[in-house]
Amino acid sequence: MAAYADIIIDLQTPTLDRTFQYSIPPELQERAEVGAPVTVPFGNGKKPRKGYIVDLSDTAKIDPAKIRPIADIPNRGLTIEDSLVELAYRIRRRYGGSLYDALRTVIPSRQKTVAVPKRKVRRVIGIAELAKRRMELPARETAKARLYDALAVTEEIPYELVTGKLKITRQALAKAEEDGILTVAEVRREEENPGEGLTVTLNDEQIRAAETVAASIGMHRVFVLHGITGSGKTEVYLKTIASVLEAGGQVIVLIPEIALTYQTVLRFYRCFGDRVAFVHSKMPAGERYRIREKAKNGEISIMIGPRSALFTPFERLGLIIVDEEHETSYRSELTPRYHAADVAVERAKLCGIPVILGSATPSLQTFYRCEQGEYTLLTLSHRAKEGAVLPTTHIIDLREELKARNYSVISRSLHAAIEDRLERREQVMLFLNRRGYAGFVSCRSCGYIAKCPHCDVSLTYHSDGTMRCHYCGHRAVYERKCPECGSSYFLPFGRSGTQKIEELVQKEFPKARVLRMDADTTKATEDYETILTEFAEGRGDILIGTQMIVKGHDFPKVTLVGALAADLSLGVPDYTCAERTFDLLAQAAGRAGRGELPGEVFIQTYRPDHYAVTAAAESDYRSFYETEIRYRRTCGYPPIRHMLTVTGSHRKEGVLESAMERLAAAIAAAAPEAVAIGPAPAPLKKKNDMYYRVIHVRHADIEVLIRAKDAADAWMHADGDGTGLTFDMD
Ligand code: ADP
Ligand code: ZN
Ligand code: ZN
Repeated sequence: MAAYADIIIDLQTPTLDRTFQYSIPPELQERAEVGAPVTVPFGNGKKPRKGYIVDLSDTAKIDPAKIRPIADIPNRGLTIEDSLVELAYRIRRRYGGSLYDALRTVIPSRQKTVAVPKRKVRRVIGIAELAKRRMELPARETAKARLYDALAVTEEIPYELVTGKLKITRQALAKAEEDGILTVAEVRREEENPGEGLTVTLNDEQIRAAETVAASIGMHRVFVLHGITGSGKTEVYLKTIASVLEAGGQVIVLIPEIALTYQTVLRFYRCFGDRVAFVHSKMPAGERYRIREKAKNGEISIMIGPRSALFTPFERLGLIIVDEEHETSYRSELTPRYHAADVAVERAKLCGIPVILGSATPSLQTFYRCEQGEYTLLTLSHRAKEGAVLPTTHIIDLREELKARNYSVISRSLHAAIEDRLERREQVMLFLNRRGYAGFVSCRSCGYIAKCPHCDVSLTYHSDGTMRCHYCGHRAVYERKCPECGSSYFLPFGRSGTQKIEELVQKEFPKARVLRMDADTTKATEDYETILTEFAEGRGDILIGTQMIVKGHDFPKVTLVGALAADLSLGVPDYTCAERTFDLLAQAAGRAGRGELPGEVFIQTYRPDHYAVTAAAESDYRSFYETEIRYRRTCGYPPIRHMLTVTGSHRKEGVLESAMERLAAAIAAAAPEAVAIGPAPAPLKKKNDMYYRVIHVRHADIEVLIRAKDAADAWMHADGDGTGLTFDMD
């Protein structure tokens, strides 16, 4: 039994961003466990403060005489805060890090908020009149056009949505008010209109999906809604949400930041009006906190947002929806490195409620669980809109281009297709997958990629003339001659950035208006929305970018999408690279021809026969899944087995190397049944003068890996020589 407890006090006070030690009186020993809510004396205040135990220990950190006892440990499980603490506890257990970090993820610190009057923009002229004025607008009045279009869809729009996501300036709004088009009015009473905007008649598959979920209200079940882009998943969400609201529940909808567009938010708003709130990461902390408080007080029923919205303190949470569940942005980059889709399932389990994971290309792990019968699969098999069809896809073999002495990044047939679109005044999207790290070695003539004989991941070129495996450390000497076909085009892949491609495209199509979107041109969410808006409004013919541009946007005039180098992502030293490539290409294929005009997709590749490429071209998730799962099974990668990646970091390379050897031994001792590989250099071996090494531990039972993780954590404190550790589960 521990004598002392580390306690974090009053979670919401940012100034108390640390823990304090208290002693545990004998009568409270039984209830003193990590995560338990407590009351303690604090400072000179008479009133005891609320806190949570984050750690237990037998040693006093300060003079024991100065440590005060815990006042009480009330029975837990009562408040929403307590249940979020329980969730934090589970996150820490699975993903590592301190409970403190986990708590901070789940419960943000209190922020100053200012009361903002709730205002709405309301259309005051008839729809015909609005249409007439829209026709009369000069082409350059794009902001007004946006506003009119939005008002044509909904009579009333929250003020913040108009000035925020829709980017209409206050002046422009005032002008429109003067012109008698709209009024800006304060809302006195919250209006309720659950489900009013549900106007689409669902098809049979949608009805079946919505009814199956609705039948599980109040029970924990995980549903996977699998359907290509445009198959009507969002309509199923809306219908299901209406059922949950009717039953008195509240709903969290997670949408990746990049897909959280004005159109999406508006669709939810149209259906559920003031009961909807949305958050995004660029919002001021105070504003996000205010919305959180409203959620806690039951003033809203639906919260839409990225990752962090998962921790909305709804007392009557009845359903969680995770849209685009396969998206990598659901994994947090900060400790604890949790995955929001997995934590959503965990929260749903805690609350005893259903959860829907929706995607056109479910993650292997999710689909595997459907196959195992753990999750329930709901399928939407075709596009919902009358007449909407899948685009035609062409796979272009880049080796043929080389043979024909075409050294451009754009193949001959793609070139012709672009010219054709420019002539027809339709739009083109070209993208480059930037997950392609510089450094892997491939043959430009036959497509062969140098791979590790032990790990089935590609080798990385190093400037000392070797090729190395970042998983196990295997080395081979680099030679320019291809071991497969003997050509002398066996070369490391450099990073040919989007900027270079922009120059090239501009040179090949001098008359085209070219826009570029990548991390350089888009520092903030605002910037990428600006570029996308520009493109959507027809102020560009060709949009060039990284994978960002293919996610979740609707451009009716885009009839051609080109993946410039589909293989780049196949060469990444990571067992998920085929899955990522498939996702991206399948999403890209879903982009073209979403409007009235038929679409075409060109996939340029050195490996036209790779299953990730061919399956994506056919939009055939199932065939991709079958092949990929066989590979994972052979190699023992997730989801067949779980994999824990332990990354160690230190400023001194030598210290790190010997420490990681000792860590590997400690892990082997704690979890002898697991397979441990490494230590090996991390994909990014050195960053900001920090060295990184990794150990991969695999086992079918996640509990074994949790044991390995806890052992690694204990080792770090005892014998780590200052080595920092981060953990990645699967
Ligand atoms: P997803 O979320 O799967 O991409 P959406 O729900 O956005 O698909 O639907 C795509 C388009 O098809 C939307 O414009 C939507 O209004 C329309 N739609 C969805 N379901 C139906 C339906 N049953 N009948 C007619 N149109 C539909
Ligand atoms: Zn290897
Ligand atoms: Zn070759």
